[in-house]
Amino acid sequence: MRTISDLGPIEGKKVIVRSDFNVPLDENGAITDDGRIRAALPTLEKLISANAKIIILAHLGRPKGERKSEFSLEIVSKKLAQLLPNTSVSFSPETIGEQAIENINKLNNGEIILMENVRFDKRETSKDDIQRNELAKEYARLGDLFVSDGFGVVHRKQASVYDIAKLLPSAAGELIFKEVSALEKATKNPERPFAVILGGSKVSDKLGVISALLEKADKLLICGGMSYTFTLAMGGEVGKSLQEPDQIETVKKYIETAKKNGVELVLPSDTVAAFDFSPDSESKIVPSSEIPNDMEGLDIGPATAQSFAEALKDAKTIVWNGPAGVFEFDKFSTGTKAIAKALILAKKNGAFTVIGGGDSASAVRKFGYGENDFSHISTGGGASLEFLEGKTLPGLEVLN
Ligand code: ADP
Ligand code: MG
Repeated sequence: MRTISDLGPIEGKKVIVRSDFNVPLDENGAITDDGRIRAALPTLEKLISANAKIIILAHLGRPKGERKSEFSLEIVSKKLAQLLPNTSVSFSPETIGEQAIENINKLNNGEIILMENVRFDKRETSKDDIQRNELAKEYARLGDLFVSDGFGVVHRKQASVYDIAKLLPSAAGELIFKEVSALEKATKNPERPFAVILGGSKVSDKLGVISALLEKADKLLICGGMSYTFTLAMGGEVGKSLQEPDQIETVKKYIETAKKNGVELVLPSDTVAAFDFSPDSESKIVPSSEIPNDMEGLDIGPATAQSFAEALKDAKTIVWNGPAGVFEFDKFSTGTKAIAKALILAKKNGAFTVIGGGDSASAVRKFGYGENDFSHISTGGGASLEFLEGKTLPGLEVLN
């Protein structure tokens, strides 16, 4: 993968950077987690100190090809200005075209301009190569070089991610470099024992990852909503818990493959079951295979948390994707917190620990843990999953 230093001297050059500024907003449109903006800073700082003129392309939310003020990136430009107090950060309400170019021409070396949401133009995400290429040509008119740094979008074949990289000399930014290095280290040749924890809501979201990791991991720990389909496959009762009966046969095959490959499969033995899906629902701890008919599992139980911690003790590489329970409700966040603590301890003991998955990352931040507690917290949900699956990501491939 080409990196920024492969681009040659960049002083005074107009460098287009694709960043991932797709931050969560509250009802009032305020940014609730600026993690992704902070993650974009190393590349921007590098370009600032190299005296480049920096033009950022990014998206926010799903405006579906229309200009919608609630998805404007202007709020992100203000946050960026706060995070880079010594740099001039301006905002261009036009993403492409003559007005956009005029705004860019006002830049001095070492200054930043953030262009309006690329997804206001429906060609950005079009499946039609010609349409995307047309838009990418408009982007290419904005600058001289392209730096791809939005790891959260590299699994997408989109104009500002993929097509533009074919039109300009291009390279991977610091964030992409860091993400790829960490995910490669964890999966290509992991130091063993290699343990993977998979949770989250549905088995069907993660079929590819489970199959791929059954060929690589030494231990596979299953929790969260997807664990109930495993329980069903083993003949247990899961009551009203999240379940996908149409995946039972697939899950049975996973259980067989685990046996055949010598992968230690650790399933929950107990569950925190609630009468309904609400933050204060009355709950009790029950054996995982005996969840009463009128109850649903919302977290792993204490015995499971204990057995997970035990299984992770000697691991040298740990990848975690998907919370163990409905961590959004404090009452049902205990299992997810216990896994976070087990990873923190493992890292202290020398293990390499990686968190992938948007909700898993926001869970650990919600608990007050940070970047230093883990070897790597990925900024890309879908992208890190596809990477773990071993898929080729178009936005990375195009940088090779
Ligand atoms: P990630 O984004 O980390 O890949 P997912 O998107 O797969 O994770 O799943 C996250 C969601 O799974 C969370 O919103 C969480 O509330 C939900 N979840 C976890 N356990 C359960 C459960 N037992 N029942 C219902 N939902 C669950
Ligand atoms: Mg998610």
